[in-house]
Amino acid sequence: MESNAREDTASFGDLALRPELLAALSSLGYEEPTPIQREAIPPLLQGKDLLGQAATGTGKTAAFALPVLQTLSEERLGKDPAALVLVPTRELAVQVSQAFHRYGRDLGVTVLPIYGGAPIGRQLQALDRGVDVVIATPGRALDHIGRGTLRLGGVRTVVLDEADEMLDMGFAEDIEAILDETADERQTVLFSATMPSRVDGIVRRHLREPVKIQMGRAESTDGGKTPLVRQSAYVVARAHKPATLGRVLDVEAPTSAIVFCRTREEVDQLTETMNGRGYRAEALHGGMSQEQRDRVMGRLRAGTADLLIATDVAARGLDVEQLTHVINYNVPSAPEAYVHRIGRVGRAGREGVALTLAEPREHRMLKAIERVTKQPITVEKVPTVADLRARRLELTRAALQESLLTDDLDRFRVVVETLTDEFDIMDVALAAVKLAHESSGIVADDEEIPDVADVGGRKRPERRTGGPAGRRRASGDDVARLFLGIGRNAGIRPQDLVGAIAGESSLTGRDIGAIEIADRFSLVEIPESAVDEVIQALRHSTIKGKKPTVRRERITPTSGPRKKTPTGKRK
Ligand code: AMP
Repeated sequence: MESNAREDTASFGDLALRPELLAALSSLGYEEPTPIQREAIPPLLQGKDLLGQAATGTGKTAAFALPVLQTLSEERLGKDPAALVLVPTRELAVQVSQAFHRYGRDLGVTVLPIYGGAPIGRQLQALDRGVDVVIATPGRALDHIGRGTLRLGGVRTVVLDEADEMLDMGFAEDIEAILDETADERQTVLFSATMPSRVDGIVRRHLREPVKIQMGRAESTDGGKTPLVRQSAYVVARAHKPATLGRVLDVEAPTSAIVFCRTREEVDQLTETMNGRGYRAEALHGGMSQEQRDRVMGRLRAGTADLLIATDVAARGLDVEQLTHVINYNVPSAPEAYVHRIGRVGRAGREGVALTLAEPREHRMLKAIERVTKQPITVEKVPTVADLRARRLELTRAALQESLLTDDLDRFRVVVETLTDEFDIMDVALAAVKLAHESSGIVADDEEIPDVADVGGRKRPERRTGGPAGRRRASGDDVARLFLGIGRNAGIRPQDLVGAIAGESSLTGRDIGAIEIADRFSLVEIPESAVDEVIQALRHSTIKGKKPTVRRERITPTSGPRKKTPTGKRK
């Protein structure tokens, strides 16, 4: 936004909305208006025309629906519609109608979507009975106007939603013809993700001194100092989001993660879903008492929860030291919210990770965020079943390696010896690995998640080697892995290793790649060229008061990402 939307923390109550609307918003779990709602609702309530540059995901639908509902309910009318919303597609017509229904449920407002491809009979009946708001695609609206079944003389507000798309779809003349049917003194609202000159033409012809609102134009405010955060997005259909989140968590294996949701309802539902899938997730939202919130934070700090699922409001002012991952379950409603969220990781030279689950329609919001942060968000492929299997085998391998290095295995020797009388030793080992693998307690998830990353017309970057998540590698491709004989049992955290290496050698936190911490050892990826220097340096220093063994570790080319066990499934 152009203004200081972030500082402006107006609540829905401050926007002078009717109690019925406030009740509906609260029951939907909306905690505060999005920036576009904060800016658009007051002038729209005053009856002004408005030009909003905003993409899907910003909360633009509520930004125009709430004022329309508010004014409708102030002055009830006859049978003809008082508001008309034009949208490019049938899908959007349905979505916008649902939004009007949900927000206006206590106001008794009637809403009708009309679009091509649906039987016209039912639409005729509904129009005949009388409706307050019509949400229409331009072609079908014109059809009804021609039949005399849609009369627009009483329309006080016209909204052109996703105007650029309507023009791209060839609806320019239809829109002009429809606007001609409405009264000159109507209020006109236009939302568009982009502002090509053709949209400008409509604005000049049909909007009167519009208030202008532009999303995603703010300059980055950190003076160019960007945090050390790897930023990726996964583009998936809404129905596949919970499964995608689970898979991404398994592959990323965060030490501690916060997942941001839009509403309280979403927080509660997702927390339940993730707990059902075996993750230790805790909900945090504005509907909870301070005492409940303190208990949640206590569990997170004590390590009995791995995943915090929260709304922005609830997470405000929260300081979680060990946070490694910020996950946006939806694209945030404004770039500022994104920047604010990811500021929670990548502190003090540690690598942080920000992951965003975006629906296909939301790719424009990702672009807006990239513009503001001046940092790329890489669209990654959702980890496949094969990626996941490789990852799990890698975990089994790491567990066996740890046991080989540190456990006293002698009491099992008799088992191996008896079996090798009859079987090849390799086969004995294979059977033992199978049993170890199957007893890890990880539930197999073997349904592929459809990849829709190309829907937005973007090219997906080549995946890098080194793991399903295309994790940022130590700079360049020549990566070596160091083995340090100190791990979780000694209280080692990734930041301790980064601190020790960056503090004792010429490397910076950025040069350090994946870190895997097992109970009794750790593995750290660093540039091949720095191996000798780092080993030398670490041999002369202590980590957490100890002088661990440091040596080069062989990298198996086929191994998946190298990190510790998945969130929530730690042994
Ligand atoms: P839109 O950009 O209008 O497509 O809205 C994107 C999503 O954000 C929809 O799922 C809305 O239900 C949701 N939403 C809109 N406003 C808010 C809000 N103030 N708080 C939480 N969620 C919202």
